[in-house]
Amino acid sequence: MRAEILSIGTELLLGQITDTNAVYLSQRLAELGIPLFFRDTVGDNHQRLRDTLRLAKSRAELIICTGGLGPTQDDITAEDIAAVFDAPLEMREDARVVVEAFFRARGREVTEKQLKQAMLPKGAIVLPNPNGTAPGFILEKDGVIAVAMPGPPHEMEPMWRDGVTPYLRARSGYTIVSRTLRFCGIGEAALETLLEDVINAQTNPTVAPYAKLAEVHIRVTARASSKDEAAALITPVEAAIRERAGQYVYGTDEQTLEEVVGLLMRERGLTLAVAESCTGGGLGARLTNIPGSSDYFLGGVISYSNELKMTLLGVPKATLVAHGAVSEPTARAMAAGVTAATGADVGVSITGIAGPGGGTAEKPVGLVYIGLAQKGQEPRAYRYTMFGNRTAIRQRAAQEALVMLHHALTGQEVSPW
Ligand code: ATP
Ligand code: MG
Repeated sequence: MRAEILSIGTELLLGQITDTNAVYLSQRLAELGIPLFFRDTVGDNHQRLRDTLRLAKSRAELIICTGGLGPTQDDITAEDIAAVFDAPLEMREDARVVVEAFFRARGREVTEKQLKQAMLPKGAIVLPNPNGTAPGFILEKDGVIAVAMPGPPHEMEPMWRDGVTPYLRARSGYTIVSRTLRFCGIGEAALETLLEDVINAQTNPTVAPYAKLAEVHIRVTARASSKDEAAALITPVEAAIRERAGQYVYGTDEQTLEEVVGLLMRERGLTLAVAESCTGGGLGARLTNIPGSSDYFLGGVISYSNELKMTLLGVPKATLVAHGAVSEPTARAMAAGVTAATGADVGVSITGIAGPGGGTAEKPVGLVYIGLAQKGQEPRAYRYTMFGNRTAIRQRAAQEALVMLHHALTGQEVSPW
């Protein structure tokens, strides 16, 4: 089954919105093993939308449309699919009930205009929309499946997941199972080299690397007639990957680094505090993303000024004068200081130059020191050189601090790369 994605809306052509729907759907199709050959963007215009639908119908068996399902004049998708597939629009009672219920639940009267959204091509399957008014639909005719979903991603994505995916799976007769291994402390290129033979050898399962911010994911995807069969295909490939690069694996599937660090902290009965400068609380925010983090995370200090580094963290003035705020001794003193101030077992500090200004030849933008203080050990700090804009540097610094914590907790050597 070849797929084609149609993103519908003049706003897209004007560059007012970014077509994230097409990106999302492309990724989901790849996971399902459905080849995608074309993506089209077309404005809210009957003639051009119909031409594009006809072209897609001539070269794909699955056409996935997003946008233009709403109640307004420029929402024309259902009408044009109806025309091209020769499946006239009709008022669908099942869809009408849903539209009415949506408005009633909000204490509003449903208007004629709103009811337009319940006019769907004859023979279409209704896709409920729990997050908005416009239902989607699937129309299968002439050996082609047309899917229409609303434009807003928070409406489209659940509809795809809960309505369209089960339909496609049931039709295809096979199932897809994915397993993601998450790596930190190694770059994408180095990891790909370690896994080269595994990556090259595979067709089912497929092995695909995804570079993220200071971490890499490897997704292993198998296609088989049952879940168990697919899982059995994945097991030996996962083992081969772990054999080659297992020491860099920090988690699997949806597990995040902050979640794994939290598990390790809890397992070891340790408490944690942070001292942040250039990240301005970004590390604390990541750590407290995890429900129950109060079990091990005590809190922290955002010591942006030198003054606070001295008064709240006890960084000696002489250290700041001699080495500067962004330096190894300062990072060490910050980590030790927050541990002393809070009584935590582990203290982590971040100090760096996020830019765009403030860099010098000696201390360029992107220079970051991350400090670590653990009970019973000398405080340490590591030097990182990071790339990208201010946001990227700040995010990367928080991420590297988590990587460092992970390594420290698992007894691995911390080696900035
Ligand atoms: P509505 O009922 O909200 O009008 P709709 O199906 O008619 O939904 P559009 O009117 O085409 O959809 O788009 C509504 C909004 O959805 C856009 O303003 C935009 O925020 C978002 N949107 C539409 N298409 C896309 C897309 N391809 N990628 C990301 N967002 C999109
Ligand atoms: Mg609309």
